[in-house]
Amino acid sequence: MTSCRICGGRLHEFGDFGTQPLSSGFLEPDYIGDEYFFRLALGVCASCSMVQLMEEVPRHLMFNGHYPYLSSGSSVMRKHFEQTAQHFLRTELTSPDAFAVELGCNDGIMLRALADAGVRHLGVEPSESVADIARRNGIRVTTEFFQESTATEIREAEGRPAQLVYAANTICHIPYVDSIFRGVDALLADDGVFVFEDPYLADIVDKTAYDQIYDEHFYFFSVTSVSAMAQRFGFELVKAERLPVHGGEVRYTIARQGRRTPDSSVAALLAEEKVRRLADLDTLNAFFRNVEKSRDDLVELLRQLKAEGRRVVGYGATAKSATVANYCGIGRELVSFVSDTTPNKQGRLTPGSHIPVRPRSAFENPYPDYALLFAWNHAEEIIAKEIRFREAGGKWILYVPHVQVV
Ligand SMILES: [Zn+2]
Repeated sequence: MTSCRICGGRLHEFGDFGTQPLSSGFLEPDYIGDEYFFRLALGVCASCSMVQLMEEVPRHLMFNGHYPYLSSGSSVMRKHFEQTAQHFLRTELTSPDAFAVELGCNDGIMLRALADAGVRHLGVEPSESVADIARRNGIRVTTEFFQESTATEIREAEGRPAQLVYAANTICHIPYVDSIFRGVDALLADDGVFVFEDPYLADIVDKTAYDQIYDEHFYFFSVTSVSAMAQRFGFELVKAERLPVHGGEVRYTIARQGRRTPDSSVAALLAEEKVRRLADLDTLNAFFRNVEKSRDDLVELLRQLKAEGRRVVGYGATAKSATVANYCGIGRELVSFVSDTTPNKQGRLTPGSHIPVRPRSAFENPYPDYALLFAWNHAEEIIAKEIRFREAGGKWILYVPHVQVV
């Protein structure tokens, strides 16, 4: 693609990670077919400043019946979503006939709190496996991709508009954002809000967090690009809050044009992005040079440890780790296995890099000399939980914001 997926403006490419597999494409150990690969590269739109992937992966390949990620897997995230639900109950969902829709509700961790408060709700979740978990938790879920037609059906079936359409770590996954906005337009009450939170481009750039860049993350939002996107589809960005979760996100609150007065947070972050020239090609090229340095430092460290005869394993077979392992060329000769608590990843091989995935019990039996922490966005929680690893002399390798041993 050479033009912007949102506005049709010209895309300037600035970062090429080479060919990459599907980040959730874990393989059976005896698998001998072809793996799906695509070119992972970034571009920035010269007109609306949206940073996006140059190549789009068909959605049915990514979000299918076997999608392995669970929102409630982390206690920090459980708390985050419970607080989010309480916030909505106090602000947007106070009327007795309030109705809330969550796009990509995953295992229903946020909606559970709304259900407990007796609020009418609906989750829209395309992945059967996680939608089933939500259903078992007592959440109303429809197993579909959200788009304009889905929204119209929901509006008709419910016989009422939604005061809130919410999405966490979902909107940046969806290239066809025009249909999402038309859907929100069909579904949202006149004074309702569309709230979504996704990784923030400024945090990715500042922390050289290049592992946020993989098949499922199509857009890398900034306040500038989201504000332009909202306007383009007849909406207005009225609030932008930075969140500490997932390595740094922004929660965007979008209302129909003219319905709410924008909060000072929008102007403040727009000004900040302008001053630091966040979407300038010079800034983004400098980011990519930092990415290359991070890769070189990590590979050098792992080779040195191998030469010293140290045992290194990976911790957390995350979607994020696919880009790091494949871009750095890390295979099982450098990292003997990756431990992960997700049962349907265990016993398989990581996509592209083919490192075996073993259960958590393999990590401590015996502890390795070093653990490469692929889930760095949960570093604090994991390092605290695995205190015995350090007591046994183990060391963590982190690569965000730079390669370091702690
Ligand atoms: Zn554009």
